[in-house]
Amino acid sequence: MNIIMLGAPGTGKGTIAGILSGELGIPQISTGDIFRKNIKEGTELGKLADSYISKGQLVPDDVTIKIVEDRLNQPDAKNGVILDGFPRTVVQADKLKEILANKGEKVDITINLVTPEEELIERIVNRRVCSNQECKAVYNLVLHPPKVEGKCDKCGSELITRKDDNVETVKSRLEQYFTATSPLVEYYEKEGVLYTETVSQSINKLGEVVAKEILEHLKEI
Ligand code: ADP
Ligand code: ZN
Repeated sequence: MNIIMLGAPGTGKGTIAGILSGELGIPQISTGDIFRKNIKEGTELGKLADSYISKGQLVPDDVTIKIVEDRLNQPDAKNGVILDGFPRTVVQADKLKEILANKGEKVDITINLVTPEEELIERIVNRRVCSNQECKAVYNLVLHPPKVEGKCDKCGSELITRKDDNVETVKSRLEQYFTATSPLVEYYEKEGVLYTETVSQSINKLGEVVAKEILEHLKEI
């Protein structure tokens, strides 16, 4: 099954994708994580990606598509994937359709996560992530704090703030979402594969609860 996680920055795509990946036994492919790994390792791709990410801009389509295409050809992707943060533009979505069609596959479901805008910025600036690349657990200082301050519950590594999780960059990332990415909601609705979930503190529905609902829904399709 090929699943897409769609939603503005801070909606919880990564957290929910991680839970679904564990439950369904299919890999989570996060373009953001792939870029961050390359930035950390100082590769050419990392340098290029950093020049966009640090400004809150999208990495160019051709670069991003190539990475996803290569990743989808890895053996562990043969039973399906959870795409977390891809596609983010209509060009990427069209190309994904073509790549999957060539393998006789398609997008089976697009999970559209919706969070009230006023919650998003707060969620992002309070986000802390595990510095251990193998773990990558995500915390929120307010909504989901670690048991020991500054340390990951799962692996004990240090928690860090993502470089792009600051108020200035967040505004530009949200703008990018509304102009370039949000048209994909209609795109996948037309394809008949859109499934929308609200993630919000105001209705007491955060990552784990939403992930459970999604898993229930997946049994029905
Ligand atoms: P978030 O959803 O919180 O913004 P991600 O980890 O998904 O975090 O992405 C971080 C950054 O990486 C984005 O702001 C963007 O610059 C870049 N990026 C990730 N995925 C894509 C993509 N599909 N196309 C272009 N840029 C991307
Ligand atoms: Zn950890």
